[in-house]
Amino acid sequence: MPVNPQSTIYNQQSTIYNPQSTIVVKMGGAAGVNLDAVCADVAALVKQDQCVVLVHGGSDETNRLSEQLGHPPRFVTSPSGYTSRFTDRTTLEIFAMVTAGKINTLLVEALQRKGVNALGLSGVDGRLMEAKRKEAIRAVENGKVRVLHDDHTGTIQTVNAGLLHLLMGAGYTPVIAPLAISPEGVALNVDADRAAAMLAGALRADSLILLTNVPGLLRHFPDESTLIPRLERARLEDSLSFAEGRMKKKVLGASEALEHGVGRVIFADGRVAEPVQRALAGHGTVIA
Ligand code: ADP
Repeated sequence: MPVNPQSTIYNQQSTIYNPQSTIVVKMGGAAGVNLDAVCADVAALVKQDQCVVLVHGGSDETNRLSEQLGHPPRFVTSPSGYTSRFTDRTTLEIFAMVTAGKINTLLVEALQRKGVNALGLSGVDGRLMEAKRKEAIRAVENGKVRVLHDDHTGTIQTVNAGLLHLLMGAGYTPVIAPLAISPEGVALNVDADRAAAMLAGALRADSLILLTNVPGLLRHFPDESTLIPRLERARLEDSLSFAEGRMKKKVLGASEALEHGVGRVIFADGRVAEPVQRALAGHGTVIA
């Protein structure tokens, strides 16, 4: 009887698949985050039979490519103080080139080189992440609130956790780019921190680790000696007052993840050796 190699792999791997103990790691695109160290550390954990989902961003590189392609990035600030990229269709396509194209492939390549059977996908694939498109966004420009149309960003509503269970059960390590799809089938740019939070929530992950180029949440940014080592989830809201810029999105993501049943969220340094294991050992800002 012919042997189906796929089903053999599935059966072998699924004996060690334990969806109770998934870790979601989000690697920031900020300068200094060490891609090789993150992948080596993910590989070490996967070899210990730890299920890991790796999520990544790519905003800095999108800015660079946008400039090079003659379509400079445009950022808008909402009346409540959140800054986001204004994503027209051309920007969306550049964002997809950088995130789902380059960064995702390089991470999969690095993990494969380290013996991990990584599989790259974005939220568009298999409707992994479905998001509601922001039809119009309100932006403060020159002190006035303006309404902008044609934005291709969204807020994630549902995660196809079944697809991730299928992949992880078959022994693959998913590497996820921050694109989602609208119910109508339009690709959207989504915030990678909040995507990681939604994915972690859907998987009921033990830990969500947000790696960036600071040691964690700082009470007085950029003074690294003011690192907040522990934060109770009830105090998370207060920390919005000293989280600036994109750090606000991480705080928001952390609170969404905890609401969805994630055990703990750790903001940790992605510039160091063994960044994931250090975070799991409690280095960074642990929110629970
Ligand atoms: P990434 O691309 O790695 O996800 P971001 O640039 O989105 O990272 O967010 C991390 C940045 O947030 C830090 O590099 C820092 O400049 C900024 N930041 C703002 N406020 C704080 C704060 N209170 N503590 C730590 N970092 C902060």
